[in-house]
Amino acid sequence: MKTTTRIIPKHKNIALVAHDNMKHSLIKWAKSNQEVLFKHNIYATGTTGHLIEKKTKLKISKLVSGPLGGDQQLGARITEGKIDMLVFFWDPLNVAPHDPDVKALLRISTVWNIPIATNISSANYLISSNLIDSEQQIKVPDYLTYIKERTQE
Ligand code: PGA
Repeated sequence: MKTTTRIIPKHKNIALVAHDNMKHSLIKWAKSNQEVLFKHNIYATGTTGHLIEKKTKLKISKLVSGPLGGDQQLGARITEGKIDMLVFFWDPLNVAPHDPDVKALLRISTVWNIPIATNISSANYLISSNLIDSEQQIKVPDYLTYIKERTQE
């Protein structure tokens, strides 16, 4: 697939999602990284967002709860280039009713090449990177070329 460049801005749109057994860890992580997170726009699935708002001073744009479609809302925003980074503490030890949506969210984040953290260690790497507070160029699918090639007679 041909790629083009997208700029991830200095002031990022960061999405936070945690499955039920992982919510405690994500809330703790968000609390200890509040100062950095304050500088960005924070999005979250419904329950995760409400809980983080309760326990921190962060203002969060809350989507619908994950099992009711929040993961898909995030996926759509990622496709549109409206989310720049995803911290997604999914639960590797339990089956989620919305497992297809969970896979879809991980897949679409990979397609659009945004930085993803799926556990505390990787979240710590992302949040402490120099790139968190600076602009970054990423490669993304070149959609115009893709659709042109597929529709040429
Ligand atoms: P929740 O959704 O934040 O509404 O619990 C998260 C998820 O299960 O994807």
